Amino acid sequence: MFHWLRQFFRKFALQMNKKSMINIVLFGPPGSGKGTQAELLVKKYNILHISTGDLFRYEMGNNTPLGLKAKEYMAKGELVPDEVTIGMLKNKVNDNPDVTGIIFDGFPRTIRQAEALDSFLAEKGTEVTNLIALDVPEEELVVRLLKRGEASGRADDKDESIIRNRIHVYQSETKQVFDYYDTKGKSSLIFGVGTIDEIFNRITSVID
Ligand code: AMP
Repeated sequence: MFHWLRQFFRKFALQMNKKSMINIVLFGPPGSGKGTQAELLVKKYNILHISTGDLFRYEMGNNTPLGLKAKEYMAKGELVPDEVTIGMLKNKVNDNPDVTGIIFDGFPRTIRQAEALDSFLAEKGTEVTNLIALDVPEEELVVRLLKRGEASGRADDKDESIIRNRIHVYQSETKQVFDYYDTKGKSSLIFGVGTIDEIFNRITSVID
């Protein structure tokens, strides 16, 4: 009896902790500042940052089969197929079972990914808390990405036609994820031009 009660309370505590997780989808076109803001959010809220772009670049750097597959798509500025991306994302989340929250940066980028994320989190007794989209004019994005390409050497940030294609893919395949979470009352649009601190304050005022 005692054993059973202990089990019950352990499960209950775990469940309560999961429910109180902060799971933020940091959303916006390439170059909108998601990575920069995610780093600051990680420090403030002490949560895990998962960038699917970074995960793919890590795999590519190590020439793994996953990295080689992703490379074909990334080089053209196209989306890596959903089943590959979703599987990689789930592995990363499962590798970090004790976190108090997650910032999803660059994921989900399609409705299918959003649905997969929702059912995956629901199985864990948690959910997306909010989606915060950074709004930046297209010409500003192109300038920022070309500048980043010079500094980082990132192949997909060097060529203007690839950059424009990534922005086009965002408009045609990704943007509807905003509406998907908006119908659940979870989406917020933030003006993504200003100093890093100004934008950070806009984001935290939504979360807090
Ligand atoms: P990012 O660093 O987020 O700009 O992502 C760089 C590239 O990685 C994208 O242009 C895609 O080719 C690929 N990628 C990153 N995240 C995803 C995702 N959620 N779904 C599909 N492809 C992705």
